[in-house]
Amino acid sequence: MMTNSANILIVDDDTALLQALPQALFLRMPNVNVDTSDSAAGALQLIRAREYDAIVSDIKMPGMDGLALLVKIRELRQNTPTLLITGHGDHNLAIQALRGGAYDFIQKPIDRDYFVAALRRAIQTHQLQLQVLEQQRALEGYAKSLELKVQERTNELLEANAAKDEFISMASHELKTPLSSLKGMTQLLHRRLIRAGSQEVTNLVSMENSIRRMEVLVNDLLSISYIETGKLALHCRRCNMGDLCQSLVDEFQAGSNPSPVIHVDIADEIIEADVDAERISQVILNLLANARKYSPARSPIHVSLKRLDDLCIISVRDQGVGIPPEELPQIFERFYRAPSIEVQTGSSVGFGLGLYISHQIVERHGGKIHVESSPGSGSVFSVALPLPVDDAPTDSAELESSQQLM
Ligand code: ADP
Repeated sequence: MMTNSANILIVDDDTALLQALPQALFLRMPNVNVDTSDSAAGALQLIRAREYDAIVSDIKMPGMDGLALLVKIRELRQNTPTLLITGHGDHNLAIQALRGGAYDFIQKPIDRDYFVAALRRAIQTHQLQLQVLEQQRALEGYAKSLELKVQERTNELLEANAAKDEFISMASHELKTPLSSLKGMTQLLHRRLIRAGSQEVTNLVSMENSIRRMEVLVNDLLSISYIETGKLALHCRRCNMGDLCQSLVDEFQAGSNPSPVIHVDIADEIIEADVDAERISQVILNLLANARKYSPARSPIHVSLKRLDDLCIISVRDQGVGIPPEELPQIFERFYRAPSIEVQTGSSVGFGLGLYISHQIVERHGGKIHVESSPGSGSVFSVALPLPVDDAPTDSAELESSQQLM
């Protein structure tokens, strides 16, 4: 079906045919405007001036013939279908015409119905092509505007992200100083009250606990800020992992009220690794804090250290609530706290950053952190750290390897 009126051009040196064909079309295709030209040269002028929906040309004409005209049309108007009129039985010319890019050929004597049907098809093809082109252009425009929007949005997000990073960094640094002096003053007060034998010291305990919780939060924010801005530097030294684990367990027990039951299983052999002791301590303390947080108060925690080939494995096992399988893939994500897991012991304060930070720190050491857990039977978090290749005896020679991270 032709949507709009169509413009066609008929080219023929036979003036009788040049009059007869438009008349035949006028009756059968009233929507069609017909231009005519009795020469290829005249036709080219018209073709340059306007775009036709179809061109019909005799193939045999004096001067430039139909085939030569077809070549020019293909150069000027690649999408305009051209039909060539051939003599009766002129198969070779017809084939040449099709090879030269003609849309169709019409044999003389011209069958009016065939002519009209062929022309209608050609016009439809052209109009469809135009529609497709138009839609293509519209789509391209739309794709470009979308691309532009995505780019703008990305820039906005990058800016917002940078502003967020800056805020977290600033806020955590600003909070750290007053918190440290608050902690110092409370410790001083604690000592004074003890010296004076005052009962008031018990009131200080909950204050100290609150300060400790705030310290954990501020430290998490500081760590995340270092990680996000690529400023988390590792200062690795050769370290006795057994001593480190034992001192962390002692520190954790001393700092928790009530003190948790922790079973420690440290391999007899000396296991040493090149680690940033402060950062690895952060990881282990976080695993211990989680083990306590997500277990009943008196439920025991197991800490083990062993060598496995060229790795040292530190495991923290609890007998707490455990983690449903569908939550496992997410727990190492930033700010993720499993909604179905409830805190069992102590405060529920937390940003859901501890495991993300631990994961980052362990990976930066070239290690892996892994969890096995099932609801009701507790969780085991294992940290695997690479052992030094040389495994040299430990004379506490410092291997100050400061790696700039990220
Ligand atoms: P936070 O403990 O501050 O919420 P983490 O990043 O340390 O953040 O842990 C992420 C989540 O993983 C926790 O909110 C909890 O749902 C789950 N999780 C972590 N450790 C344990 C554990 N030992 N037992 C059960 N769930 C845990």
